[in-house]
Amino acid sequence: MGKICSRCKQEKDIGDFQRDKSSSTGYKYYCKECAKKSSQVLYKKHHEKVNTKHKEWVKNHKEEWQEYYRDYIKENKDKLIAWKKKKAQENIERRIQRIKRNREENM
Ligand SMILES: [Zn+2]
Repeated sequence: MGKICSRCKQEKDIGDFQRDKSSSTGYKYYCKECAKKSSQVLYKKHHEKVNTKHKEWVKNHKEEWQEYYRDYIKENKDKLIAWKKKKAQENIERRIQRIKRNREENM
């Protein structure tokens, strides 16, 4: 049995909806596809302002932002872990480079 998405108005399989404990149906009222779209819009909206008023923006969009952020972390877990590893590796390499450079300068 499907469920109609309140955003795109299409009937979709229940598996296409994310679970949501706070919702009466146990699922989000919009489908994953729409959730993705809206998080992209939110991401863009946010990043246009990120340099100026990030904190204020987050305060005004707290729930949207938390939801977006939670989903983002969940969806990108592997990427984030890989990114952290890469950063750590880069830091090590940078440190090695710096030590080498210092050595050369002191020679
Ligand atoms: Zn939809």
